[in-house]
This record gives sequence, structure tokens and C-alpha cells, in this order.
Amino acid sequence: MIVNVQDAPQKAIRIFDRLVETFKEQKINPSPLNYYVWYQYVKGNIPALRQEMDAILNDPFGYNDRVGKRLYDTYLLEQDENTSEFDRAFRRLIDAMVKKMNAWSDKLESHTQQLDECSSQLSNPNLNSEEIQRITNTVITAASSIKEGSLNIQDEMLRNAEAVQELRKQLQEAQAEALTDELTQIGNRKAFNNAIEELILEAQETPENLCLILCDIDHFKQFNDTYGHLVGDSVLRYFANTMQKDKKETETICRYGGEEFAILLINSNLDEAIERSHNIRKAIQSAHLKRKNSSEALKTITASFGVACYQGSIETTQDFIDRADQALYQAKNSGRNCVIDERQLSPEKS
Ligand code: GH3
Ligand code: MG
Ligand code: MG
Repeated sequence: MIVNVQDAPQKAIRIFDRLVETFKEQKINPSPLNYYVWYQYVKGNIPALRQEMDAILNDPFGYNDRVGKRLYDTYLLEQDENTSEFDRAFRRLIDAMVKKMNAWSDKLESHTQQLDECSSQLSNPNLNSEEIQRITNTVITAASSIKEGSLNIQDEMLRNAEAVQELRKQLQEAQAEALTDELTQIGNRKAFNNAIEELILEAQETPENLCLILCDIDHFKQFNDTYGHLVGDSVLRYFANTMQKDKKETETICRYGGEEFAILLINSNLDEAIERSHNIRKAIQSAHLKRKNSSEALKTITASFGVACYQGSIETTQDFIDRADQALYQAKNSGRNCVIDERQLSPEKS
């Protein structure tokens, strides 16, 4: 099933990931309809649904498929289409499933009626053997049709559950794409913003260090002017690769802007972050860059670095970033190709 979830909101994927776990833990049937009801519940845009689900969940046996279907019919069936592409794709899947289930339930009802009639006919003691044979044939046909229909609907449910997983995968891919810088294939500014918010929340809960390195390539405009934008692009890729080389699991590396990069480090103190900066600075400075397909040596590239450590809940995210930025600014004013940390900030700038 192909669906377009390019505008998948960040929130949707977080909800979805949590739901997969919740469904497993609470042994909820992972049907598309249940996923959709819970997704809308956690998303919280429909207060009445939220209220009713809260009440249902207070009862340990409160939620089941039947309750899910009723909530869907009450709150979600007539929902307006003013929602995200992801929600709409999800809805289309559920609508198709519900239609099939309704058709099956009509068929089942007609078979049940047929069996009831057979049963009352069989209670007639004056039936001859031919009539008994005819009724028995009808019973067998109805029963095998019920069995076949039930298997079909099970298959259908399985396929739909797979489609929900596919939807989730597409959502993850769309999200990854939205957070990746096309040129360097590392995280983009949005990824940085997400990461810093998350890491700051974690840092407030645990006594872990959180440091930020901001770095900016020196005189890059001049470099571009000399060699052209395409060569400049490959230098940006080279810079990103150099940063990635010794990347620890506790680091988040992003392209912060044009020729500016950021590294968020947890479990590292200021001195370790300074050392990491120097290592990148030296690696870049000592690189012998050549123009592709020619031996022409390019000018040496250097970069300047600003380093700061998060001070805890006494400072805002922006203040934290600003301190690293001020250190970077000071590195530029100190002759470039150097690392300045928050301890070295001039009093008027700190
Ligand atoms: P400074 O040492 O003060 O940082 O000088 P600078 O020349 O590096 O800084 P400036 O802000 O004047 O110029 C930044 C340059 O980075 C200009 C812009 O063309 C270049 N740049 C930004 N994004 C890209 C990109 O994606 N590709 C290329 N090739 N160049 C880029
Ligand atoms: Mg620059
Ligand atoms: Mg810059």
C-alpha cells in the first residue's frame, strides 16, 4: 500500500512508537482500528474522546475491540478531513477495513438466518430423506462459507496490521528525511533543535554533563570565491565526515547552518569537549585537499570553535546556545583556527 506521509509530524511518530509498546504490554489487539483510536486519544485533539478513554482506562478490563469500534464510530467516523497527510492515510486504511468487516458481518448474519431456518425445518418429524439431504447440503454450504469468510477476514486483518506497520515505517523514513541535511547527510538544524531540547530535559533529570561545540569554517566565502561553490560543497562534506570519524555514541552532530556545525556531547566535561574540538581543528588544518580529478592542491581549510557546558535549569536553551556562540565569536576575533571555551569569555560578553 503506497501512502504519502511526507508531512508526517514529529508528534505522530513519537505517539506511534509509544503505542507499539503499549499495545504489546497491555495485550491490546494490534488492529488498525485500535491503533487509530489510541493514536487519536494520545494526540489529544478530541477532548470528549480523551475524557471517555480516560474513564475506560481506569477499569483494568475497560478497553477491548468492541469499545474501540464504538469510540471510532462515535468520535472518529465523521471527523473532518482537516488533518495531516499521515492521519488521512491512516483513515483510508481504517475505512477500507471497516467496510470489509461490515460486509462480512452482513454475510454472517444472512448465513446465520439460513442456519436458523434449516434448524426449524429439521424439527419437522415428517421430512423425507430427500428433504433431509437438501437441508443438510444447505447447512454444509453455509458452514463452509462461514469458515472461508472467517479465514478471509483474518487474512485481511493481518494484511491491514502489516499495512499499519508499513505506514509507521514510511512515517519514520519521512521523519528521518526531514531531519537530515541533504548535502552532508548529517542532522540538520531541525534535528539539532530537537536533540538539544531532549538532552536538556534529560540533563535536568540526571546530573550528567551536557556540552555544546559550535564551529564555523574560516573565510569560507573567500574559498568559494576562489574555487567555486561545488568545490565548497565537497569541503562541507569533508568537514562533516571528519567530525563523524571519531564520533562517540554520546554525541549528536548536526549542520547548524551554511558552514557552521554543532556537536552536542553528553557525559563529557568542558575539558573533554575542548579536546574534541582541538582534534577536529587539527584534522581539518592538516588535511591535504585536492580538486577532484586533478592534482591541484586547494588552500588549507581551518575552522574556529566555541565551547560551552549547560549550567542546568538556571539557564534557558537559548542562553546555553548563546554562550557557545559568544565563544565562537571570540574565537573568530582571536585570529580564527582556535578553540575558545566559556571560561575564556570576556566579562562584557559573558
Ligand atoms: P568567517 O571566517 O568569519 O566565518 O568568514 P566566512 O567567509 O566563512 O563567513 P561568511 O559568513 O562571510 O560566509 C559564509 C560563506 O559560506 C558564504 C556562503 O557562500 C558559504 N556557504 C554557506 N552555505 C554553503 C553551501 O551549502 N555550500 C557552499 N559551497 N558554500 C556555502
Ligand atoms: Mg565562516
Ligand atoms: Mg558562518
